[in-house]
Amino acid sequence: MNFADSEVVGAILTEAGYTLCSTLEEADFVLINTCAIRDNAEQRVRHRVRELRAQQNRQRTLRIGILGCMAERLQSRLMVEEDNVSLVCGPDAYRRLPALLRQVREGQQASEVELSTTETYADIEPVRLGSNGISAYISIMRGCQNYCSYCVVPYTRGRERSRDPHTIVDEARTLYERGYREVTLLGQNVNSYRWSADSVPTGFPDLMEMVADVAPDLRVRFATSHPKDLSDELLQAMAAHPNICRCIHLPVQSGSDCMLKLMNRKYTVGWYLDRVEAIRHYLPDCSITTDVIAGFSSETEEDHQATLELFRRVRYDYAYMFKYSEREGTYASRHLADDVPDDVKTRRLNEIIALQGQIALENNRLEVGREYEVLVEGESHRSKERLFGRNSQNKVLVFDRGDAVPGTYRRVLVTDCTAATLLGQLTAE
Ligand code: SAM
Ligand code: SF4
Repeated sequence: MNFADSEVVGAILTEAGYTLCSTLEEADFVLINTCAIRDNAEQRVRHRVRELRAQQNRQRTLRIGILGCMAERLQSRLMVEEDNVSLVCGPDAYRRLPALLRQVREGQQASEVELSTTETYADIEPVRLGSNGISAYISIMRGCQNYCSYCVVPYTRGRERSRDPHTIVDEARTLYERGYREVTLLGQNVNSYRWSADSVPTGFPDLMEMVADVAPDLRVRFATSHPKDLSDELLQAMAAHPNICRCIHLPVQSGSDCMLKLMNRKYTVGWYLDRVEAIRHYLPDCSITTDVIAGFSSETEEDHQATLELFRRVRYDYAYMFKYSEREGTYASRHLADDVPDDVKTRRLNEIIALQGQIALENNRLEVGREYEVLVEGESHRSKERLFGRNSQNKVLVFDRGDAVPGTYRRVLVTDCTAATLLGQLTAE
C-alpha cells in the first residue's frame, strides 16, 4: 500500500516540477513513507531519520519529510521528537505536498494530517518506481473501518472509500498497453469494495471481472481479503477467469475463538475453515497465505496451540508472522492488557515460524513433477544464467534461462525445491 502511495506522491511531485533522484547527494528533500502498524516499523524509520542527520551536516540544505501512517499518528509531535524533520504529511494530504514543500523551502516547518472521506487519488496516474515493467500495483480503495482491536490502521488511514471502477480499469488497460502483464489490486479489505453510479452497484467480484476482461494474458491479483467477507460470489468470479490468479491472502490472526473475539475479527475458527473449504471447492489449485499475531492480550498456551493446530489443518503456502505490538489509541491499548511477556511472545512466534517453514517445504515438495505457466520477471539474484518468475499461485520459480524473455509466459517443469522457491526447467513450447 505504501509502495503504491509513494508512486502517487512521485506523480504529484513530478507534475509540480520536482525530479526524482536516486542518490542522497542529489537530493534537496528526502521523503520517507512510513508504516505505523508495529512499533519496530516506527523504530526503523526513527533510526533512518537519525542516520540522515550526518548527511544534513554535510549538505546543509537537505530537508527531511515524513509521509504516511507514522506522520498521521504522531503529527507535529514527530517534528519535536525528531528535530531534523521539517515536514509531516498524512496519507490523505499528498495533493498538498507541493505547497508544503514550498513552505519548507521558505524556512518553515509544514504539517498536514487531515483525513478525508473521499480522497482516492483516482485521477492521478502513478509514476512506476523501480518498476520491472511487468507487474504493478493498483490501489482500489483506501482506509478501513473494521476496527480490529489491535490495529492502528483505521486511525491512520481513515474511513473506507472505494475508487471509481472505470478509473481502475483504465489504469489496468494503460499498464497492459505499456507491456505490463500483472496487476495487483490493493486495499485493506478488498471484499468491502463498493461503488455505486446511477443506482448500479459495483462490488469486488464485478470489479475483478472488469479488470480480468482487459486482456486474457493480463494476470490479476488482489490483497487483502478479510475472512468475514470472503464470498462464494468472488470465488465463482475467480473460477470463471483463468487470468485471476489462484492465490488468496486470508489473514487469520489467531486459531483461537477467544482471541478472535478479543481481536474483534468478527469470525470464528469454524467460519474461517468453512471459507478455506469453499476456496478448495471452487479453486482446487489455489494457494492460501495468511497473517498471524503471536502473544495478543491474555493469549494462553492453549490459544497458542490452537493457532499451531489451525496452521496444520490449513497448510498455508506462506505466512506473515508477527509478535503482538501494542499500538497507542487502539481499543486493545485502552482496554486489554499487553500481558504476555516478551520472551513468551518470541517463543510462540518462533514455534509458528518453525512449523510454517516445515509446511511450506512439504507443500513445495508436492510441486516437484508439476508443470506451470510462469510469468518471467527477470534474472535470478544468484545467477545470471537463470531467470525467475511466478506461477498463478504466486510461487517463485527459478529456471535455466534458455530462450526465455522477461515479460512473457513460459511453461516450467518443477524439478526441485526449497521452502521458499521452486526450481525447474523450461519445457518445449
Ligand atoms: N487489512 C489487512 C487485514 O486485515 O488482513 C492487513 C492489515 S495490516 C497492514 C497487516 C497485518 O499486520 C495484519 O494482518 C496483522 O497480522 C498485523 N498487525 C496489525 N496490527 C498489529 C499489531 N498491533 N501487532 C502485531 N501485528 C499487527
Ligand atoms: Fe487493521 Fe483489521 Fe482493518 Fe486489517 S481489517 S487494516 S487488521 S482494522
